[in-house]
Amino acid sequence: MPFPITVLDPKAFPAVKARRVTLVHFARAVEGFADASAPDIDNRGNVLRAAPGAAYGPATGITGKVTGKEPREVRIKLVRDRIDASAKLFPELESTANVSLVYPLTGVALNPADTSSRFGDCIYLKANSDGAGDPETKLKIRYGTATGPVIAELAILVYKPVTIYVKIHRVTINGPASATGPVDAECAYSDDEIAGIVDRMNRIMEPAGMIYVPRATIATEVIDSYTERGTVTLTRVGDQVNVELQTILNTNPDPDSLNVYLFNRFRDITQTAGRDLGVAGIAMSRDQANANPPATAFPGCQAGFAMCYSSDLEYAAHTAAHEIGHTLRLQHYGGRGPMSRMKNEIWANRNLMRNTVNLAVASPARNIGYGSYNNGRVRTGGWLGTKTLPTTANLGQANQIAIARAAAAADSYKPVTRS
Ligand SMILES: [Zn+2]
Repeated sequence: MPFPITVLDPKAFPAVKARRVTLVHFARAVEGFADASAPDIDNRGNVLRAAPGAAYGPATGITGKVTGKEPREVRIKLVRDRIDASAKLFPELESTANVSLVYPLTGVALNPADTSSRFGDCIYLKANSDGAGDPETKLKIRYGTATGPVIAELAILVYKPVTIYVKIHRVTINGPASATGPVDAECAYSDDEIAGIVDRMNRIMEPAGMIYVPRATIATEVIDSYTERGTVTLTRVGDQVNVELQTILNTNPDPDSLNVYLFNRFRDITQTAGRDLGVAGIAMSRDQANANPPATAFPGCQAGFAMCYSSDLEYAAHTAAHEIGHTLRLQHYGGRGPMSRMKNEIWANRNLMRNTVNLAVASPARNIGYGSYNNGRVRTGGWLGTKTLPTTANLGQANQIAIARAAAAADSYKPVTRS
């Protein structure tokens, strides 16, 4: 039934409140841990800003083509908020120079039902170029016919693949056994577990066009005379000047890799018993290394990251990806300083750079679709910001992907050389 619509100038009618009606929205097409074939999306704001992410809608990223390798198909879910399943919706790319529509093809309506090979209302895309210059285009959703009005759009960035070589060191730490809960000196991670962590890190980072390639051999390191067997002890000094942590980061680093040191646990003696084993990983960038040179009885701060054992590979991979973010100059998202100041909002909780790996029980914004760890705790998400947005004190870095990629190009994750 037709009905009249009157358009009012809100400035002339200040008592009339504007309403935005969302007909459809784009969503991550999977539940649970990060999946490289279903990238997360940056849905902060619907105002058109400068690229990257220049769409009246969210933005997402895919990795550009690698020579000799078939590009991965990724899918984006379209959620019909106020549009019936029988309504015909037509995806269309503004340009196919860098991205192709795999399904449905141009001129074919979305199928709302799952089929044997495709999920319902999902748009399947793949990279069509190597992504040189990190170009972007728009995915548009047209209503009714292939030339109908556009009711939603999504910016798609194609990131030129950036390869980061990872040198893994498995560290044996000798010292007196803890009286209350001893751990082995030798790091418990198996080769298979380490490969599983790298695989999962790549699932998180692929939408940012970053690929982690482990060096062929895992180094074995032995360190003696630590405070506690199998343990890196954190004290009241800053991590960048902690002798045990920095001694490990200075142990045979590969000059052209991101160096990762694995051992059994951290103990933070500034925390009360029971809360002192909560640290999972600590990373340093070159900036911190250069700011903290060697001194008497101090080997100097070194770039790389140190991580303790977890039998939950998704927990370990989330920690590793987050720590690598720090080596790539990413800061925490959603607040600095004490936990009480952290933002408990949906974007911060979904972000890889939130400063906790799990979300508080009381948080109203914890149902972010990333599932739970083996211990039942709700996972923080793996999303990284793509859009250009105004920054504030609590949001110092909006386009995290661009920052991390620029840092990688500047070798911020590689060790400093000291003579
Ligand atoms: Zn952190």
